[in-house]
Amino acid sequence: MNIVVTGGQGLVGKYLQKYLKAVYLSSKDYDLTKESEVIKMYEDLQPEVVIHLAARVGGIIENINKPFEYFEDNVLMNTFLLKYSKVYNVRKFLGVLSSCAYPDTSDHYPLNENDLHKDLPNENNFGYGYSKKLMGVQIDMFKRRGYNYSYIIPNNLYGEFEHGDLDRKHFIGALLEKIKISNKNGDDKIILFGDGTPLRQFTFAEDIAKIIKLIIDNNICENMNVGIEENLSINEIAQLALKATNSEHLTIQYDKSKPNGQLRKDISMEKFRTMFPNFKFTSYIDGMKKTYNILNNG
Ligand code: NAP
Repeated sequence: MNIVVTGGQGLVGKYLQKYLKAVYLSSKDYDLTKESEVIKMYEDLQPEVVIHLAARVGGIIENINKPFEYFEDNVLMNTFLLKYSKVYNVRKFLGVLSSCAYPDTSDHYPLNENDLHKDLPNENNFGYGYSKKLMGVQIDMFKRRGYNYSYIIPNNLYGEFEHGDLDRKHFIGALLEKIKISNKNGDDKIILFGDGTPLRQFTFAEDIAKIIKLIIDNNICENMNVGIEENLSINEIAQLALKATNSEHLTIQYDKSKPNGQLRKDISMEKFRTMFPNFKFTSYIDGMKKTYNILNNG
């Protein structure tokens, strides 16, 4: 089976390389925001299966500062990839959305797959979140016409291969980086944005790679939430990070002048569990230990 993985050199892609034989692309191979390069990619590689990981992804600061870029790049990539997957007879297409696509607030939690289009995403990741919501619409149009095209919706991710500076990293990546810097400089604290109360689910990115492998192997064509069930406050996650990195001597100070972001966006794994009742997610402590070790030795 000829499988192509876009965004194959990113956080999830690097883990997926361990589990699935495929062609793993980076933006250096093809700029997928350009129609001519997407056509060239399909011409060159003739994939039967496309796993579409590529996206403009970043932390809260970048999302606030560059909403147009996040929206445009993602909409262009998703649109061209799907348009030409039809032309080039791609048999199976797996897209990756994000829990950022879900409504900013809801009258119930956790959010399930039917809530996706009920309201607008949080204003701090409006461009990114909306681009993912739109990919959901695009894929559903294929699905309704009988195509084996579907998407997964992961919650927040972290792991050893997250790159970029503090502004680009997601919360756990940036948190571990701050711990590393404080330890290196002999400081006694780390400073985090907001007040520590928002609730988050952070999944070790290798678990998402394992789930993608299961979806491909079992030829599953269901749109579904994927990720860890535990829903912890930012402060609880930060305390676990201090423990995982043997840094309990550091205190956590909150900069309340900075935004909290969405107050909660926990997603339901009920559908995922009907298919994979025994899937075991990496614990926060184990995942953060591995990620910190790489940071410290990098
Ligand atoms: P990542 O580490 O930022 O990797 C994204 C990949 O997309 C990179 O390999 C990048 O290529 C590629 N890319 C970006 N712009 C491109 C372009 N114009 N042309 C071709 N390739 C381009 O992302 P990730 O964390 O692995 O995320 C994988 C998927 O999961 C994404 O769709 C993301 O939206 C979704 N997701 C991520 C999170 C999270 O917290 N990280 C949470 C939920 C969902 P280069 O390496 O060459 O730059």
